[in-house]
Amino acid sequence: LLDALADQAALAIERIQLVADVDRARLAAESDRLRSALLTSISHDLKTPLAAILGAAGTLRDYFASMPEEDRSDLLSTVVDESERLNRFIANLLDMTKIESGAMEPNHALHYAGDIIGSALRRAAKILDGHKTEMSIPADLPMVRVDPVLFEQVIFNLLDNAAKYAPEGSVIHIEGWADADNVVVQVSDEGPGIPPADLTRVFDTFYRVRKGDQVRAGTGLGLSICRGFIEAMGGTITAGNRTGRRGAVFTIRLPKPTDIPKLDELR
Ligand code: ADP
Repeated sequence: LLDALADQAALAIERIQLVADVDRARLAAESDRLRSALLTSISHDLKTPLAAILGAAGTLRDYFASMPEEDRSDLLSTVVDESERLNRFIANLLDMTKIESGAMEPNHALHYAGDIIGSALRRAAKILDGHKTEMSIPADLPMVRVDPVLFEQVIFNLLDNAAKYAPEGSVIHIEGWADADNVVVQVSDEGPGIPPADLTRVFDTFYRVRKGDQVRAGTGLGLSICRGFIEAMGGTITAGNRTGRRGAVFTIRLPKPTDIPKLDELR
C-alpha cells in the first residue's frame, strides 16, 4: 500500500515537472503581467490537491496500524480523487498549450455528431449521476467534419460544467439541428446561468465568473479548451442564457460539409 502511495506521489511530481516545462515554454510568449497571474493560478491549482494528497498519505503512513478500516479507506479515496483532479488539470494545461502553440493537428473526418455525443455522455456518466439528461438529435442530422477526440472533449467539458453549476436533479439538454449553413449542437442547463457581461469572457483562459469558488472546484480552463478545439475544427462556440428561464446555453456551430458522400459511396 505504501509503495502504491509512493508511486502516486512520484507520478504527481513527475507530472508537475512536466507542467513546469510546458509552463516555461508558455511563459516565453506571455507578457510580464500575465506571467505572474498565470503562475499564481497554476501554483494554486497544483498545490491544493497535492496538499490533500500529502496530508492523507502522511496520516496513513504514521497511523496506519492503529486506524479503523473506514478511516483508511477515506484517506485512500482522498489520495485517488485528488490525484485524478491533478491529472485532469494537467491534461487541460497540456491541451491548452497545444492549442496556443499551434501544435495541434486535428484528425478531421466525417462523423455523426450524435455518435460522438453518445460517447461523451457515456464518459461523463459518473459526473452526470445526480442530473437528468435529455438528448434530442434527429436521425437525419447531416454529418460533420470533426476530430472525434477533440469534439468529444468539448461536449464532455460542457456536460461537466452543466453538472457542476446546475442543481442536482435538474435536466441537462443536448439538442442538435441543421440550419442553412451549419450543424448546430446546443448544451443547456437549468443552473444559475451566466451574467451577460461575462458571456464572452468565460472562454478566456483561467477566467471564472465566481472567482475563488471553492465549492465548485474549477480551473477556468474548460471553456477556453472548448473554444480552441471548436475553432481548430472550423466552427464557433458561443455562450448565452435561456430566454425566460434560468440556465446557461452553449451553442456550437460547425459548417455543413459540402462533400458528404452518398450512402452507396460509403459502402
Ligand atoms: P471552470 O473550471 O471554472 O468551470 P470553465 O472554463 O469551464 O472553467 O468555465 C469558466 C467559467 O464559466 C466558470 O468558472 C463559471 O463561472 C462559468 N460557467 C461555465 N459553465 C457554466 C454553466 N453551465 N453555468 C453557469 N456558469 C458556467
